[in-house]
Amino acid sequence: MNAFVMFVAAIALVPAPREQAWRDGACNFAEKDVRFVRDAALPPEGYRLDIAPDGVTVASADDAGAFYARKTLKQLGTNAVPCGTVTDAPAFRWRGFMLDEGRHFFGKETVKSLLDLMADHKLNVFHWHLTEDQGWRLAIDRFPELVQYGAVRPESPVHGCTGRPNDYRGNGQVYGPYFYTAADVREILAYAKERFITVVPEVEVPGHARALLAAHPEFACREGLPRVPRTMNGIEDEVLCAGNDEAIRFMEQVYDEVCALFPGTYVHIGGDECPKKRWKECPKCQARIKALGLNDEDALQAWVTRHFTDYLAKKGRRTVGWDEILAGNPGLETVVHNWRKPEYGIEAAEKGHDVVVSALGATYFSVSQGVKEDPFTYLSPKRRCSLAAAYAFDPHAGMTEAAKRHVLGAECCMWSECTWNEYDLAFKLWPRACAFAEAVWTAPAAPRDFADFSQRMAVHRLRLISEGVNCAPLE
Ligand SMILES: [Zn+2]
Repeated sequence: MNAFVMFVAAIALVPAPREQAWRDGACNFAEKDVRFVRDAALPPEGYRLDIAPDGVTVASADDAGAFYARKTLKQLGTNAVPCGTVTDAPAFRWRGFMLDEGRHFFGKETVKSLLDLMADHKLNVFHWHLTEDQGWRLAIDRFPELVQYGAVRPESPVHGCTGRPNDYRGNGQVYGPYFYTAADVREILAYAKERFITVVPEVEVPGHARALLAAHPEFACREGLPRVPRTMNGIEDEVLCAGNDEAIRFMEQVYDEVCALFPGTYVHIGGDECPKKRWKECPKCQARIKALGLNDEDALQAWVTRHFTDYLAKKGRRTVGWDEILAGNPGLETVVHNWRKPEYGIEAAEKGHDVVVSALGATYFSVSQGVKEDPFTYLSPKRRCSLAAAYAFDPHAGMTEAAKRHVLGAECCMWSECTWNEYDLAFKLWPRACAFAEAVWTAPAAPRDFADFSQRMAVHRLRLISEGVNCAPLE
């Protein structure tokens, strides 16, 4: 490696820009020396950076582009920055990170620091998973019981066990109440907006509803449910009663408040992992199936999905749902969030749905990354998602050209069954989220070279650590 190549390697931009050209000479500059100009010919969120001995010029078509140029400059530093040009724009417009706060709650300050880190890595969609069997984290004015009962549980699984029913030991410690008020949400939304991040709230229907049913047991299929959220990990059989008109009306009113609070276009309604056991036994659900002439309980879930998709559409929103909703043939305006096999994402895109891709083996950072020294616990101890796998992730994999046009982008996911706090979360997230950021920002425009990424990542990891981020080692 010659000296100049080593010098360029030390530039270490993560995610890599689309194009970079460096020349002899270096520049020292202060923030005030950076000149911002508009160039309508540049793509949305893109920018061109010219670093010359007499100063730095940033051209962009929009404010987001100028913002991302600043993020690139932040990584370059201000002392002895090489002269050259960077021409950059994202490969995908949906570059997301999903945080599950249902199982464990991280709170406002952690969310803000995650939004900062997202922005540093040019990620722009914060998918906020707010409701779960194990906790309801969003205060709804009309229904205060949701957080009164749904945001606190009698205990959690102890550290070190997976917390699944066959491996459950409770710690006997009350967890909560932990939730976000409307004021908290507005504060987070403002913080995100300053960083060009869209917040997509997820409020699940009809499954993952045990915390909801702790607050409103009258909306379950059975009577007499204890008024506590689930404490074990895993999926709950108790779901929203789809045969109860009042339960449906209740969820509409919940979404009314969600829409009033969150101004963005997209509302995620979950729709994943809804066991049909209770619906099969429930007279009301069976009556609904009969009245609507439906084939079975799967068709009943399709009806629920369609109902809320239509309801949200009337309010000007687009619904996002996990790919289980495909089974009900939802309207093409529904965005399908692929998480199971890639085939479901391909099927959705080929049908004409817009698709967001999360891949179990490449973007689920709640599973082990396989480094030797790892003090943390995982829900599925045998699953692996290495840094290399995260880096190789391609949201377009296996798709026709026509299908590719329906891919809005992708999300990496942090499920929190076994993730308790910011320290634990950071170790699982970084550096894999850096690899993900490059997969959605740079690729497929650039060739994917893991050795090159690893070299840049070694430098970038020190930046993260100097900012106090508990980034896992590179192996
Ligand atoms: Zn029912």
